[in-house]
Amino acid sequence: MANLIMIVEDEEALAVLLKYNLETEGFQVITESRGSRAIAEIEKNHPSVIILDWMLPELSGVEICKLIRSKPDIKAIPVIMLTAKGEEEDKIKGLGAGADDYVTKPFSVPELVARVKAQLRRAPEPVTEKELVFEDIRMDLVEKKVFRGENFVHLGPTEFRLLRTLMDMPGKVFSRDFLLKTVWGDNIYVESRTIDVHIRRLRQALNKYGPDYIRTVRATGYALDSSLKEEI
Ligand code: CA
Repeated sequence: MANLIMIVEDEEALAVLLKYNLETEGFQVITESRGSRAIAEIEKNHPSVIILDWMLPELSGVEICKLIRSKPDIKAIPVIMLTAKGEEEDKIKGLGAGADDYVTKPFSVPELVARVKAQLRRAPEPVTEKELVFEDIRMDLVEKKVFRGENFVHLGPTEFRLLRTLMDMPGKVFSRDFLLKTVWGDNIYVESRTIDVHIRRLRQALNKYGPDYIRTVRATGYALDSSLKEEI
């Protein structure tokens, strides 16, 4: 069955253009123009990816994104945020609300389609191992859940992928470039600063229940390491 993409966008011309192009790529597409209806439609349809406009009447994209992330049955659905605002501060705010990717208007349609495909590539992954363990952190690869000791750690899909990569080879320093390719996919331009935002979120979630094991290697990248202090 074709992947279902949901577009939440009040600019009708843009919604129609995106729908047409995504359908040409073989996706099923539904659109919603009212922010207040978006959550109910997402819960009803369970799309594979949500393209969410920042500026919507009634309820903003940021508010909708936060709501998505607070609901267990839909929280894992990747969200690509669209916005006319290009300011770095807004970008950070969008990522802070739980968006997985961020596209600034005006954008090229092929670029957005590539980003949708990148989010879909991340989703299904052949499971060869059932779990990964590092110190007190346990990742259940079947249920896609992370525990620290007895505590369930709430992670967004991007943070899950990041942690999964780090846990595959504890101690290894992963470059930002490698993490971008692994977590976001090839042919996608993501600023390296975006990685830092997601690492910060991952740390916040994990460190609620124990010490910080994510090591920042200056000018290089990140590693999972329980023996070394963070380099400044
Ligand atoms: Ca809008």
